[in-house]
Amino acid sequence: MVNLLQFDRSALGDWCEQQGEKAFRATQLFRWIHQRGERDFAAMSDLARPFRDKLIASAEVVGLAVASEQVAQDGTVKWLFDVGAGDAVETVFIPETGRGTLCISSQAGCAVNCRFCATGHQGFSRNLTTAEIVAQLWHAEFELRKRLGLAAGERAITNVVMMGMGEPLQNYGALLPALRTMLDDHGYGLSRRRVTVSTSGVVPMIDRLRDDCPVALAVSLHAPDDALRDELVPLNRKYPIAELLASARRYLERAPRDFITIEYCMLDGVNDSPAQAEALLALLRGDGSAERSGLPCKVNLIPFNPFAASGLKRSPAARVAAFAAVLQEGGIVTTVRKTRGDDIAAACGQLAGEVQDRTRVAERRARAVPVRIAAPASRRRAVEGVAPGRRP
Ligand code: SF4
Repeated sequence: MVNLLQFDRSALGDWCEQQGEKAFRATQLFRWIHQRGERDFAAMSDLARPFRDKLIASAEVVGLAVASEQVAQDGTVKWLFDVGAGDAVETVFIPETGRGTLCISSQAGCAVNCRFCATGHQGFSRNLTTAEIVAQLWHAEFELRKRLGLAAGERAITNVVMMGMGEPLQNYGALLPALRTMLDDHGYGLSRRRVTVSTSGVVPMIDRLRDDCPVALAVSLHAPDDALRDELVPLNRKYPIAELLASARRYLERAPRDFITIEYCMLDGVNDSPAQAEALLALLRGDGSAERSGLPCKVNLIPFNPFAASGLKRSPAARVAAFAAVLQEGGIVTTVRKTRGDDIAAACGQLAGEVQDRTRVAERRARAVPVRIAAPASRRRAVEGVAPGRRP
């Protein structure tokens, strides 16, 4: 039995042809699955009976098993989905006036191992399949439609952010059909501006995404210089900041927005000083670079949501405000992310899930020398790693 959540519409057309059906039948089938949430082939009344019989014999529409669901006081909903073999991933719905955003996971665990991130601390188990990525949206959309009593055609989810557990660009093969399903007018019909891929900086895949499916892009920067970013986001040693920002500039040639979102998690005494704000401003404006090519961007400052194993603290609100002021006065639009769902541990950096680490990250971490963050001397501190969670 093949799970049809695995296919974007083009692949579903190919599969239908293999079954001896016309490819256009795929569009009807796709609409039943992704616009009406139907999983019972017998109920798909405009499909010919022989085709329905074939579907019943050879295919299925299978969502993810819900291990738990929590609803926060502010209406944020967090689902823990069991993806088998001891792994579970989390998905978060964030309601706001006029829009509903779904934060989706792309991997069980993550191999990037960012110092401030609980998912990285847990290690890596496996990539999610396209079906498992799409199933998070499929479940949330149709469950919420029922609960909210939405009329036919009304949508619960207006925006998707690939900011849950995992580095989406390290699971590109599964991500791409999932994005295409989200954007498809016969699927969820989301505009490219309303689907955001957030990356820690997998430079070659940023270029591929630009060519294949340029949706909105967010870059998790978190540091204004390579020395600090090497420690906070180890992938920086492979793709340093200059290469990352160059790829972000190339991305804008085809992006649906005329800016990149820069995410910057505010860590007390690590990356939040006035001098670091000035350095970030200079970096993003391109001051000092040969071509003085700045990056059109907006900065999103994210107050760190501490978790026990992190050894890190949230920057005080006054320091976050001062940091934002430096950027704003320098001409860069800067926002401070509101914390949502923190009473159910659904805020940025708080997601945990359950991951069977196949990379022995815990052993490696136990053997590792404590990392010394290259912050100003007065604020130097040892940071020994962090725990799993939604990308801060
Ligand atoms: S912040 Fe993102 S890329 Fe870094 S370890 Fe966490 S999930 Fe992976």
